Amino acid sequence: MSAYPKSPLMGQMMEKPMLISSIIEHADRYFGTSEIVSRRVEGDIHRYNYRQCHQRSKQLANALTQLGVKLGDRVATIAWNGYRHLEAYYAVSGSGAVLHTINPRLHPEQIVYMINHAEDQYLFFDISFLPIVEGIAAHCPGVKGFVMMCGRSHMPAESKLSNLLCYEELLAAQSSDYDWPLFDENSASSLCYTSGTTGHPKGALYSHRSTVLHSYASALPDGLNVSARDTVLPVVPMFHVNAWGLPYSAPLTGGKLVFPGPFLDGKSLYELFEQERVTFSAGVPTVWLGLLNHVSQHGLRFSSFKRTVIGGSACPPAMMHTLRHSYGVEVVHAWGMTEMSPLGTSCTLLAKHMELPETEKEAVLTKQGHVLYGVEMKIVDDAGKELAWDGKTYGNLLVRGPWIISAYYKGEGGDVLHNGWFATGDVATIDADGFMQITDRSKDVIKSGGEWIGSIDLENVAMGHPAVMQAACIGVFHPKWDERPLLLVVKKQGAEVTKEELLQFFEGKVAKWWIPDDIAFIDALPLGATGKILKNKLREQFKEHQLPTV
Ligand code: AMP
Repeated sequence: MSAYPKSPLMGQMMEKPMLISSIIEHADRYFGTSEIVSRRVEGDIHRYNYRQCHQRSKQLANALTQLGVKLGDRVATIAWNGYRHLEAYYAVSGSGAVLHTINPRLHPEQIVYMINHAEDQYLFFDISFLPIVEGIAAHCPGVKGFVMMCGRSHMPAESKLSNLLCYEELLAAQSSDYDWPLFDENSASSLCYTSGTTGHPKGALYSHRSTVLHSYASALPDGLNVSARDTVLPVVPMFHVNAWGLPYSAPLTGGKLVFPGPFLDGKSLYELFEQERVTFSAGVPTVWLGLLNHVSQHGLRFSSFKRTVIGGSACPPAMMHTLRHSYGVEVVHAWGMTEMSPLGTSCTLLAKHMELPETEKEAVLTKQGHVLYGVEMKIVDDAGKELAWDGKTYGNLLVRGPWIISAYYKGEGGDVLHNGWFATGDVATIDADGFMQITDRSKDVIKSGGEWIGSIDLENVAMGHPAVMQAACIGVFHPKWDERPLLLVVKKQGAEVTKEELLQFFEGKVAKWWIPDDIAFIDALPLGATGKILKNKLREQFKEHQLPTV
């Protein structure tokens, strides 16, 4: 029931619920022959189209009914980006059940926690995850069956799982006659747990309405700009916030979909980009690092790739510059979070920016950008007072809108709203045009002598040095200033730079007092389950680090 008053004169438009099933129905009817290409876990390439995807999703929906899955029941997946996973997206949510996508890179104990917390009835998984599933099954007594997403020939001769089912057999036993049920658009559609660094993961429970609205908004030209003329390759996994909505926005617009399966290294991705003539992709910065290394080492070019969305963590300006200038790939920097379905902002230029010199355009494009219509944002100080949109003042970033959570699943973490706003945990500036720029996660801000130093700015400068592959900046204890920045750097293979040279490189690029006190060169940065740098691990590792005294 809506909390808002009713007008004495209500509009007279049809009341058709916004349901996820309508997206695949639409794709079948209007873009039926548009292709879906998947590099399968089995290693080969599979191709079919939206019409066949719809047919098989309906077969799966019939299978779910036969398995006793009802409206609101949770069904989990542990799977790569692929056509069977897409079928589960539509069959599970479309039939009224709730798709719970699980990140296989999480610790098995966390996976067990999430399955039990969500009370998943069935677990669908790709063949590569059989060892994980066999390892956790005994701890998940509520799961009635484990469905391996493959044909009979790939099923194991024997398994520890007593209730192991074969995906293709389940489908083969069903007809594709199925009428997608109609129900309240606010019903839950899918569930995604945040990969928080402390405590148990918490669930963001999306609805059909929030998902359809997010799909509409994200497909807009100044959002992801997906169209029927695009070939879309989501590198961002379908187990992490619904691959930023692309499994919905691509069928909604009719774009061809290309799924990379588990093969996310630079070489495999490049080959798929070229073979399938991919025009548009999306992923976190670490993925582009691998792809760019591969193309630069082998002197390769992209023949069709035009645009990519980079988000999940800040896109280093040097990476954006290389993609734009060396490879002619437009970069849309986007920001969001699991709690926001995930998209909040994207960075594209306004008409008034078009005549600016390249460097000034890039300075705008480095920001996380303006909101998609539907999302509202503001920055506040610690007392909750709203701060100025001047591009300089930074504060805690709050958001609200119809695809942002109002509470975590089962009320975990209590009341998360502050006068109707959700606190993102990010610290940001907003300029007069409404372009937002993240300076840090609030827990990563370096507090030096009562002032804040934004670690992202320092990392961006370091990544601009030709010898630096990756950089992370953390605050370490300082007897006078409380904390001072320590920069951790992974050098490019074969490249050399000294600490002194790199510190010199900061001169004139940031305020003098922001320049790191020290630099440590390391072999690799610790990455979390979604490809983000684990700064809490770095802080732990370097907590005894002695900064130079002068
Ligand atoms: P997750 O829920 O795992 O997707 O993480 C969301 C968090 O990732 C946000 O709150 C930000 O701290 C960070 N994040 C996402 N996109 C960006 C971006 N473009 N720049 C900086 N941080 C980002």
